[in-house]
Amino acid sequence: MYRGPAVTLEQVLDNREVRAVRQREWVVTHSLPIVSFTINMPGSVKLNQISKIGFEVGQREIQLICIQAGCSIVSQAFINDCGCESITAVEGISPERLKRMMIELEDKHPLGRLFDIDVFNSQGLALSRDQLGFPRRHCFICGRDAKICARNRVHPLPALIDKLSEMIDEYH
Ligand SMILES: [Zn+2]
Repeated sequence: MYRGPAVTLEQVLDNREVRAVRQREWVVTHSLPIVSFTINMPGSVKLNQISKIGFEVGQREIQLICIQAGCSIVSQAFINDCGCESITAVEGISPERLKRMMIELEDKHPLGRLFDIDVFNSQGLALSRDQLGFPRRHCFICGRDAKICARNRVHPLPALIDKLSEMIDEYH
């Protein structure tokens, strides 16, 4: 499930820069809260069965949640060797409520561990879990602060891949 094209750190960083530019463009174009969706995928393979399935499911959920909240949306997906991602402009909701809905999706959906969902207000500022009183995300292997585990590479890649593959298998 993990097999796919490997990418370099440089490609990942370039892709991140393209994403940041796109986010700013969407903020300027739409003057609306923006949802930026990417997939958390450890290691050098970013486009694989795990990320593709996770993305499809997450993208559908994000759209559904927004529509059910009575919002209108404009959304576009981008898929390349650096992974799957989407950007969505959402009309008819405060950025705070939108962020809360996306935190709930990350925390409660069976594939939510794969989802990395950022929300920006119409001025382009990112909202944080902290400012809305939500706890940080927990590592899906050990339950500690996910950022610390990722930064320090606490868990070996094969263990992470096994766990993610299992998650996809159970969901299917
Ligand atoms: Zn951990």
